[in-house]
Amino acid sequence: MASNKSLLILPGDGIGPEAMTEVRRIVDWMGDRRAVKFDVDEDLVGGSSIDKHGIPITDEVVDKAQNVDAVLLGAVGGPKWDNLDFSIKPERGLLRLRKDLELFANLRPAICFDALVEASSLKPELVAGLDIMIVRELTGGVYFGEPRGIEDLGGGVRRGINTQVYTTPEIHRVARVAFELAQKRDGRVTSSEKANVMESGLLWREEVTKIGQEEFPDVELSHMYADNAAMQLVRAPKQFDVIVTDNLFGDILSDCAAMLTGSLGMLPSASLGGVDEHGRRKALYEPVHGSAPDIAGENKANPIATILSYAMALRYSFDMSDEADLVEKAVQNVLASGVRTGDIMAEGMTQVSTTEMGDAILKELDNLNA
Ligand code: NAD
Repeated sequence: MASNKSLLILPGDGIGPEAMTEVRRIVDWMGDRRAVKFDVDEDLVGGSSIDKHGIPITDEVVDKAQNVDAVLLGAVGGPKWDNLDFSIKPERGLLRLRKDLELFANLRPAICFDALVEASSLKPELVAGLDIMIVRELTGGVYFGEPRGIEDLGGGVRRGINTQVYTTPEIHRVARVAFELAQKRDGRVTSSEKANVMESGLLWREEVTKIGQEEFPDVELSHMYADNAAMQLVRAPKQFDVIVTDNLFGDILSDCAAMLTGSLGMLPSASLGGVDEHGRRKALYEPVHGSAPDIAGENKANPIATILSYAMALRYSFDMSDEADLVEKAVQNVLASGVRTGDIMAEGMTQVSTTEMGDAILKELDNLNA
């Protein structure tokens, strides 16, 4: 048996628990068939925590999250909790986790599975084989900068203010994450900002260049203004390997890249923090989609985004790229065989439930592992 690895699972609300059930089956499969044992703990976040404890996350759960190798989260929220005060809404649980764990780098892969090229809004030849990674700075920039607010200037005139601000350590740490990822991929980083019109963008460009030259001379670095990056993402997305960018531009560019791949039900993500004294990097893995209340409880949800989030945890928190490749390959083969949940259903394919999608992926894992 390989050494134990700790995983905290927070299924959350809506389709979160349904998708997570399928992940649990794959975690068990890893123990049985690959001798990879995880210490799995499961707890509440979001609406399910509000129902039991009156708050969207307890100190105890945050403490657990601080002390595991990786946290895997389903989704939070739903109409039942929509009318609560903003301070105790389900989403606050997730925001607190991101803040307390200081998760400053958000990784959003955009991978286009061959079987789903038709689901992209772009021509198949532009997205076939697409595999890019967007690294978005998550805890700084204009969403958090001070001063901020809305001022009354008198005479019926008001002024809204937000401040784009970055310090060199904030830029350095997210740049390092991007360079390290590139070293394990195709060895290329594109850094994106608006250095032509923003001083913070100029600082970003200078500091990313410095980190690249001093610490990652093996990685090819290029720079691209964020407006051009948006254009290039829909013109020729395969030119990119890793894109690193700030909070605001990353918010937009990562959603833009996500749509190149088709469905929300397919998109995983990771949020990474700093490395502690034991060499362990704080990490939260979650699908990009929400709790999908419109289909919750109906065994219709696509579990693949959550399963691929678990594959990211294998790759980035546990350094188990063979097992991550195996899970991704199983998903790819199942899709190629024509098995589809409702959200990615197409003519001539077989529509299946959440559980049946899990069955198909497990069966394919058995085949690949034989
Ligand atoms: P959503 O992502 O939950 O759903 C949008 C649409 O996509 C729905 O029609 C849904 O059925 C479909 N969809 C999403 N994931 C799917 C999947 N895996 N399989 C099949 N279909 C899927 O977004 P929303 O409707 O805007 O939000 C619903 C709730 O989720 C809200 O309470 C919102 O605040 C919350 N939310 C949570 C997160 C999170 O936990 N990270 C993210 C976004 C929204």
